[in-house]
Amino acid sequence: MNAKILETENVTVSFDGFKALNQLNFSMDLGELRVVIGPNGAGKTTFLDVITGKVQPTVGRVLFKGKNLRSLPEHQIARLGIGRKFQTPRIYLNLTPRENLEITSNRNKNAFSTLFGRPDAAEKNSIKGLLETIGLTLKADIPATLLSHGEKQRLEIGMLVAQSPDLLLVDEPVAGLTDEETYNIGELLLALAQSHSILVIEHDMEFVRQIARKVTVLHEGSVLCEGSFEEVQNDSRVIEVYLGQQHE
Ligand code: ADP
Ligand code: MG
Repeated sequence: MNAKILETENVTVSFDGFKALNQLNFSMDLGELRVVIGPNGAGKTTFLDVITGKVQPTVGRVLFKGKNLRSLPEHQIARLGIGRKFQTPRIYLNLTPRENLEITSNRNKNAFSTLFGRPDAAEKNSIKGLLETIGLTLKADIPATLLSHGEKQRLEIGMLVAQSPDLLLVDEPVAGLTDEETYNIGELLLALAQSHSILVIEHDMEFVRQIARKVTVLHEGSVLCEGSFEEVQNDSRVIEVYLGQQHE
């Protein structure tokens, strides 16, 4: 048994000679909530692209639960159990939150429904539970277009969870949100972390402080440092790269 859900070994991604990722070594335990931060251009989005198969490593390997993902197409990697939430919500605005979740879980018929023999009932229960988890029970049946930006983000996280991934990749979930909505997303991710492995990319330091256990700082395509929020925040190298960015 491999207790690591995700590992990258010496991963380099070159775009015409420019190394967006540079010999990146990273690993994350099963069940972990990990936050990855880093200044603009550090390689954070490329890191997610290389995990999901959107981009192939020029050098090195990516392992998911010990399995080498090399050359697998994106849809196959998704089917292995890696789900990704993009920055902008991709939900059906003319449908209700309940319908959005129904569509997603129908598309991903899993062991759950077969196991209980009554797919409809099992599914309804899981959708009811999901609506509670994402805090949209009261708005379950209004068109999603009427939701606030934060509620839309929570719905999309719910849709991701409805696909039952083993690893959730979440790219900048609180960009453009109010403080209250940011806090709600933080609490939602903390709740989901009790039963999922989650990798979150984020800029907002208050948010990182709220949810962080272990933080990885990326810089120029490599891991600059890793540790608790406090350790990372007080690391002189981290302070330097973030200050450098402000002066640009
Ligand atoms: P971050 O998400 O940390 O801001 P990115 O992963 O988006 O950083 O980008 C890392 C670096 O790689 C940036 O300098 C960016 O310009 C470059 N880059 C990303 N994607 C491409 C691409 N498809 N072609 C060329 N350069 C790219
Ligand atoms: Mg990015």
